Amino acid sequence: MPIIGTQQSPIQIMHEQTFHAHFPFSYFEIDRYEVEGDVEGVFEDHNFDFNTPPKGLTFNREPWYLHKMHLHAPAEHLINSYAPNHFELHLVHYQSDKPHPTGPKVVISAMFEIAKENLKEIKNRHSFHHLNKFHKDMTKKKTKKCYPPLEEPTHLINPNDFLPDCTSRWYHYQGSLTSGTYSEDCDWFVLDDKFQVCESHVQFLCETKQKARPIHALDRRFILRNFE
Ligand SMILES: [Zn+2]
Repeated sequence: MPIIGTQQSPIQIMHEQTFHAHFPFSYFEIDRYEVEGDVEGVFEDHNFDFNTPPKGLTFNREPWYLHKMHLHAPAEHLINSYAPNHFELHLVHYQSDKPHPTGPKVVISAMFEIAKENLKEIKNRHSFHHLNKFHKDMTKKKTKKCYPPLEEPTHLINPNDFLPDCTSRWYHYQGSLTSGTYSEDCDWFVLDDKFQVCESHVQFLCETKQKARPIHALDRRFILRNFE
């Protein structure tokens, strides 16, 4: 049985109720994932698992590695609103780059929406297109009753396509996984910036989404932020 305590996720984040803190530069730094081009992974359950977890960020002076990524629709965290964003990506990092690590996690939350206008100005995030096409092909094969095993590598993706342009403004709190064991061992960084994608690039990818877990009480926690 999962042990559910008083540090559960997701939560609602209201900007004026968070605390602006001056973090040392070495506390948390996310720039871009260190990959040379695209990397391979597989879908297992709802998660996209990276075959070779890329180094993604520095937290408490240590490197952390991106192992899993998944999609929630609608978003789980509520930001300055009682209405969720369309989508929330969770990028789950561990301190080891070895397969199947356990222990503390750093989870980055990145929100995105379907663009309604100015489609030509939408940044080309080809990994959405690749994953979406993969699921479209799978769906077609499924109807022909020859569903391929999920262990097959998916199309190549670049994890940087799943981050907004600005990764330097974030909210930070101590929380839990929002599914499975609900373990309270997650350092959450909810990015302030959002990005937009074309609807046609997520149409089939949406089948991999997880529903949003309801928000939980903050209890005795504080939410910190690193920007005004
Ligand atoms: Zn999640």
